[in-house]
Amino acid sequence: MVPLEWETWDGRKHELSTRPCRGCGAPVVWAQTANRKGIPLDPVPDPAGNLVIDTVNPDRSGGRLAVYVRPGERPGEPRYVSHFVTCPEAASFRGRAV
Ligand SMILES: [Zn+2]
Repeated sequence: MVPLEWETWDGRKHELSTRPCRGCGAPVVWAQTANRKGIPLDPVPDPAGNLVIDTVNPDRSGGRLAVYVRPGERPGEPRYVSHFVTCPEAASFRGRAV
């Protein structure tokens, strides 16, 4: 996959690689939630998203922490949507490891 450039809230840019979704083949970026579960994100920010990314350690996989935010929280940061929400094949793998 073509690496995408990921701009964090502080303006730093990180290259990140996507992996194809096992359901629909769309590129997704993997991050971790606060309880260390993997979560696939659509790589393109969406103002309606409910996740922001904290870059914990950009040099290591798992260094992206997905943080759930409410509307109005952390204004100005790009927001992302879980691919579980947008995947047309989500029903086929929901509840299983992706
Ligand atoms: Zn998908």
